[in-house]
Amino acid sequence: MGEKYDAIVIGSGISGSSVGAMLSKLGYKTIVLEQSEQVGGRTFAFDGDTLTKDHFLKTLAMYDCTVAVAEPDLDTIFREGLLKGYTVDIGYHRGYTGPIIDAIKSLGGEIETCPPFEIPWDPKLGLSFPDLMEVSKRITELNPNPDDYDDVSIVEFAKEQGWDLNGNLYKMFRFMADAMQAVKPIDQTAAGDPIRSLLLRGRRQRFPVSAAAGGGLKGEILLPPKGGSDNVSKSFLNIITKNGGSVRTGAKVKKIVVEGGVATGVVVGKDELIQGKIIVYSGVIFSLPNIIEKKHLPKDYLRRIDALSGTGVGGFLMNAGFPAPQSAPAGIFSEFPPVSGFGGRFFNAVPAGRAMGCAPDGKELLFAGWAITPEENELLIRDKELTKKIFKSFSGKLSEVIAGYDKSDWKIVITCPSCYSVGSRVFASGKYRLENRVPTVGNLFLAGDGVRGAVNFGQYAAYKSAERCFAEIMGAYPLSLL
Ligand SMILES: Cc1cc2nc3c(=O)[nH]c(=O)nc-3n(C[C@H](O)[C@H](O)[C@H](O)COP(=O)(O)OP(=O)(O)OC[C@H]3O[C@@H](n4cnc5c(N)ncnc54)[C@H](O)[C@@H]3O)c2cc1C
Repeated sequence: MGEKYDAIVIGSGISGSSVGAMLSKLGYKTIVLEQSEQVGGRTFAFDGDTLTKDHFLKTLAMYDCTVAVAEPDLDTIFREGLLKGYTVDIGYHRGYTGPIIDAIKSLGGEIETCPPFEIPWDPKLGLSFPDLMEVSKRITELNPNPDDYDDVSIVEFAKEQGWDLNGNLYKMFRFMADAMQAVKPIDQTAAGDPIRSLLLRGRRQRFPVSAAAGGGLKGEILLPPKGGSDNVSKSFLNIITKNGGSVRTGAKVKKIVVEGGVATGVVVGKDELIQGKIIVYSGVIFSLPNIIEKKHLPKDYLRRIDALSGTGVGGFLMNAGFPAPQSAPAGIFSEFPPVSGFGGRFFNAVPAGRAMGCAPDGKELLFAGWAITPEENELLIRDKELTKKIFKSFSGKLSEVIAGYDKSDWKIVITCPSCYSVGSRVFASGKYRLENRVPTVGNLFLAGDGVRGAVNFGQYAAYKSAERCFAEIMGAYPLSLL
């Protein structure tokens, strides 16, 4: 019989690693089990020197990402070693990293971040950051409880408030929904997340507003980790090992063992049983029914898990440039010009190279992402002519915002449009989010960007859900009772 743990955490992404760090800091004997050979979950970074095409594609596939298009093609990129010297950080995150960094430090961990910087807003979007602050203030005054908005459609909410559905406020919601990859039609989108993200901004007041036209985002809330976003999870995991806990990679949990309504442990690999008093599942929520007998999950859970599937797709591009353009902005929120079938969508682009230590000296790496629908994704995969048009439109836009982009020798454009994310599905359906404690198995807890408490989006949502999961564990299983 193996060791018995106070807490077994399944998954080493932002949510699993952070809830594990919180527990171990308090003295819970904690183990994190990660199925992959690398930690960090969907914040994954690759070392361009050793990266192979096979590893790249396999890792992407684990998170439902594919490379539909690459220029030059993937074979050329790997044959010619075009990624050597780079850290290829998929999903280079800038939003809301600051509070997560604060949490790492408050738990006694260490992480190096890039200096604060500003992301300008494209004035052509028709709204400015101060507008958003104003709306946020108004919503806070209207109703202080963000959870109330989970079941309310944006359109209904706007109508109730007497807001002009063609005016700036509505446009702003559409912008937020697109920005968060809520690709369902706006009138089917739950109001919860766009509003909560505004509330969060309004309440925290951590974004000094730029005087520049269009306003901007700036400040300590946008603090990406140096050297790759998976360093966030690594820092949390270091806290766990520093406090006597363990982290195992290549440890896929095949089954959560439940006896008499209590989870007693997990089965890893073929038949290794690891016993635990509390189990936290932090993998993507759709996979939960694969590792626990369905009879142990509430029917309502299963229905909601079902309802979450297939509602959202994100997209991203990565450009590696040789050499670095002289005046890349810190980032840009903009729309690229409409291409037939695509409709001109919001995108953001951030140079992720020099400042973050992800590109070799004198070179640059640009990460750009945009929101696409499942139908557009299909089109991208099938219609190579359309893809070319999109690249052209996108490159044209980048030439506008990055001086010298068109003259520099930008070599690589990779796109992984089939990037399903739990977050994007959940934004489109806030009401389906699952509770952090499984009601039918009292010592089984959930964390991750698809469960309650996952305020806002992406990494930040994953971290917030972990905070809430931790609070539930504290309430039900304080260390003194274990
Ligand atoms: C391409 C891409 C771009 C993105 N861009 C952004 C962005 O710009 N900004 C932003 O904020 N967010 C972004 N996101 C979303 C963000 O990365 C995620 O929301 C966040 O990392 C989710 O963290 P998590 O802990 O909830 O889940 P995950 O990171 O998915 O972690 C779950 C972990 O559990 C492991 N696991 C699952 N099942 C098992 C099992 N049975 N046994 C053992 N281990 C298991 C998985 O391997 C994984 O490591 C992006 C995501 C992708 C894929």
